[in-house]
Amino acid sequence: MRKKIVAGNWKMNTLPAEGVELAKAVAARRHETDSSVELIVCPPFTHLSEVVKATRGKGVAVGAQNCAAEEKGAYTGEVSAAMLAALGVEYVILGHSERREYYGETSATLNRKLAMAYTNNLIPIYCVGEKLEEREAGRHFDIVGAQLREVVYNLTPEQFTSLVVAYEPVWAIGTGKTATSEQAEEMHAHIRRTLAEKFGAAADATPILYGGSCKPSNAQELFAKPDVDGGLIGGAALEADSFIRIGQSF
Ligand code: PEP
Repeated sequence: MRKKIVAGNWKMNTLPAEGVELAKAVAARRHETDSSVELIVCPPFTHLSEVVKATRGKGVAVGAQNCAAEEKGAYTGEVSAAMLAALGVEYVILGHSERREYYGETSATLNRKLAMAYTNNLIPIYCVGEKLEEREAGRHFDIVGAQLREVVYNLTPEQFTSLVVAYEPVWAIGTGKTATSEQAEEMHAHIRRTLAEKFGAAADATPILYGGSCKPSNAQELFAKPDVDGGLIGGAALEADSFIRIGQSF
């Protein structure tokens, strides 16, 4: 049985006090979701410490949205994986399309970030996904395949066993345009096959999350697909009620 996961990517939203309230509201309703579902909230860096405290022992894990590619030192404005781990953060989102697009993150950068995450026992949620023009040109499988081969293929078999992958078609993020469950499943199956080419049967245990305008009204249909193991949720994670309802959608 693969782990089922619903992770909320809050992006650059909420002030610290609002974020703590949101995390508390999620924790208070955690019992309404099946205990086999891992719920993760990923607030901005500034809220992490308080959100970890507010959720400790309540069945809600905390993730960061990024970490530095370097260990420590003269990297003004960066936050290291060790700093996150020291706060009690367990996961880190890496390679989100917004970071690839606006901050120039490449596979080379992401290889270093994943290495830092593993060194500090953080579980990476590694995001892949194609842009609209890439899908329209029929290149979506190749693009996602390359994003996996250039980064995930460099992991050791042991590191690979804790990886979480998120498929987020760029054209579906924040647009209200969700991939159909068939589009999601064919890409998730492709991702699992690509991972299996390198890591064999271990790929059967890798949670692959769907992200892109996932909400309570479409989560159930998406999560019913055999290779969709949950969701990485943006906008709908900013309300405890919709986040919890997505968590109930398995
Ligand atoms: C995201 O950016 O990770 C995301 C899935 O956003 P949204 O759900 O708002 O499309």
